[in-house]
Amino acid sequence: MIIQLSSTINNFQKDSIVKKVSEFGYKVSEVKTQKGTYLISIGKKEFDIRQLGFLSGIEDIHRVSDDYKLVSGKWKVDRSVVDLGDGVFIGGNSLAIMAGPCSIETEAQVELTINHLKENGVQIMRGGVFKPRSSPYAFRGLGVEGLKMWHKKAREAGIKIISEVMQVSQIADMYDYVDVFQVGARNTQNFNLLDELGKVDKPVMIKRGISGTIEELLYSAEYVFSAGNEKLILCERGIRTYERASRNTMDVNAIPILKEKTHLPVVADPSHGIGIREFVEPIALAALMAGADGIIYETHQKPEEAYSDGQQTLDFNESARLIRKLLKAYELRETAF
Ligand code: PEP
Ligand code: MN
Repeated sequence: MIIQLSSTINNFQKDSIVKKVSEFGYKVSEVKTQKGTYLISIGKKEFDIRQLGFLSGIEDIHRVSDDYKLVSGKWKVDRSVVDLGDGVFIGGNSLAIMAGPCSIETEAQVELTINHLKENGVQIMRGGVFKPRSSPYAFRGLGVEGLKMWHKKAREAGIKIISEVMQVSQIADMYDYVDVFQVGARNTQNFNLLDELGKVDKPVMIKRGISGTIEELLYSAEYVFSAGNEKLILCERGIRTYERASRNTMDVNAIPILKEKTHLPVVADPSHGIGIREFVEPIALAALMAGADGIIYETHQKPEEAYSDGQQTLDFNESARLIRKLLKAYELRETAF
């Protein structure tokens, strides 16, 4: 059960609600986010919520049978929209396109990418400065210095930044230079990291774990929300299966399922989803038609020279074509279907 408290509630009123709900055998946890205060009440016994009706300070009460509560779609009337500022949104009545290299490499690369995005109307640039690489000898990113260089150029161009944070200590270092923190597939269940990201007032996009279930992804989001941050986005990026013909198996199924289970925006990453450059476009379009609120993919001026993930990275011509097709398909989805 989620008890939404009114913004004018005082401590005495809050204590009375906690006391009453505890008397019904419920364990109560208070969650305070940027947008509101909630009492998450977990218990087995059913009771008539009208019995709380006489208490003041309650805005609304929602019965949510799912084990994850705050991210569940069962209580919120409207879908959540994440606002990055300056008219840039993820979720809601627009398609969010996020594109950029796997890794931030050089100043020249950043400039070329920003120009490409601007020419094609893309407002959010992706790129890693801390790279989780399977081999410790592979390029592991430019770190905070690279992020600062990128941020300066992106700000000048009015472009927003999404970048992966791999550990708690990086949150503070990155905070001023990102618009969205990305939690990578290898960190979906890094609960300490999720807890700490719950304490910051900045959007967080959580990718599905490499072998993670949809439910586990929702629990990961619940960690961040319950720690205080409701500016959340979920990302399907393919899962590991027995299939070896593609890098991962893009679970397009997850998109409508997530959209049904949660009010959070759901985006898709076809680059990691299939891992094969020629097939990024059809998989992006499939994810879009399945209901994705956004698409995040990798592009580079010379994919064959990219420091990481070149095999799944689009060149700028392919990227421009994908953007055109995505916008057309999105319009079709929203108007013709
Ligand atoms: C990435 O976005 O470059 C990345 C490492 O993704 P994932 O965490 O999905 O593997
Ligand atoms: Mn990558």
